[in-house]
Amino acid sequence: MKVSNFPVFTQKDVPSEAEVASHQLMIKSGMIRKLSSGQYSWLPIGLRVIQKIQDVIREELNNIGCSEILMPSVQPAELWKESERWDDYGPELLRFTDRHNREFCLGPTFEEVITDLIKKDVSSYKQLPINLFQISSKFRDEIRPRFGVMRAREFIMKDAYSFHESQSCLDMAYENYKSAYKNIFKRLMLDYTIVDADSGNIGGNESNEFHVIAETGEDDLLLDDELNGMNLEIAKVKYSEDNLESIIKKTGLTHKKGIEVGHIFKLGQKYSEKMKAKITTKDSKSINMFMGCYGIGVTRIVAAAIEQNHDSNGIIWPKSISPFEVVIIEIDGHKNKEVRSHSSEIYDLLQNSKISRIYDDRDASFGNKMKDWELIGVPNIVIIGKNEAKNKTITYKSRLGNEKLEIKIEDLINKITL
Ligand code: ATP
Ligand code: MG
Repeated sequence: MKVSNFPVFTQKDVPSEAEVASHQLMIKSGMIRKLSSGQYSWLPIGLRVIQKIQDVIREELNNIGCSEILMPSVQPAELWKESERWDDYGPELLRFTDRHNREFCLGPTFEEVITDLIKKDVSSYKQLPINLFQISSKFRDEIRPRFGVMRAREFIMKDAYSFHESQSCLDMAYENYKSAYKNIFKRLMLDYTIVDADSGNIGGNESNEFHVIAETGEDDLLLDDELNGMNLEIAKVKYSEDNLESIIKKTGLTHKKGIEVGHIFKLGQKYSEKMKAKITTKDSKSINMFMGCYGIGVTRIVAAAIEQNHDSNGIIWPKSISPFEVVIIEIDGHKNKEVRSHSSEIYDLLQNSKISRIYDDRDASFGNKMKDWELIGVPNIVIIGKNEAKNKTITYKSRLGNEKLEIKIEDLINKITL
């Protein structure tokens, strides 16, 4: 990519409502722009980060035999009435009617739609297990959208659903998802922990949350020395205490703030019972299917990763989700033919080595370009000016260090691919 056809929308100022670092940096670095409360458009750089995260999720879910589908975001009310969540879900469910006065909602989660889908196609234990996921926009009319994409009203979630003939099959699948999630968060290079959680209005009898540890997190976690533990709701019930301080006093557990980036649930037969999703077993009995559901907040991960990885100059992307691996910054390329042609050569060489790169070919000062790319947070910076063009070298700077090194192009490729 060249900046001349991959626009960079960096800006200096941030609105006063941007309280946390990730929200400020996402606006400054030109990743997102606000449309209305809790709704954001994703600009080219931001979208590349989302796609990197999605690639990791897809790969790990495919590895456990989960296939991708896509369901409509507008859902008919009848299904929510069948599951009895039309009333239970409350004002977070955005409801409306169509021209025929039929009631609909904008999907905040998809248990109803998928249960309805599966029950129409599956009737025998022989067709199970089934594991499906989608990555799509969800809408929740949050009472207090804040922190940018961290608590948005419209956001991208990966939601997976599994269907089984028995509790033990569900138990096995649940463990598979848990280990896929561990792989995902490890590959995304996040500092995270898994806690016991309550099932909220999704339901079921066992659930775990995945949290990125960060001071700006909205959730209270109670953790032991190995960072295992539970969220506050569970701790209150478990230790029969009604506040954080008294639980800490009673248990000696450590309190940390977390950003919930994933949540997995054993739903059991909650939806299959209400929506009559039945199968015939091996011994010809008719039973309700056993279900699990597994969510990941894709867009929330972007903010969580920034909360954990930034400094006073901007974002410092973990290698695996950086929008680009390398940025090439040319100095006065528009005025100097040698610089332009040497930069273009490096650009092509990196392409041949399958290294993703962006080439800043703008007519702008070196200082401004450097500021922009430190803000955007690409981990490897390549600088090309008169000297480098003459010596057929590049100057390398890591986003993290201050040192600048004039090196050969082969050494650059080694540095990046190591
Ligand atoms: P929270 O407690 O933060 O409101 P939740 O428990 O209601 O989230 P789930 O129903 O478990 O959320 O949804 C699965 C995942 O979707 C969450 O773990 C989270 O990462 C993400 N998510 C939920 N609500 C939002 C939101 N308003 N904005 C961005 N991501 C969200
Ligand atoms: Mg949750």
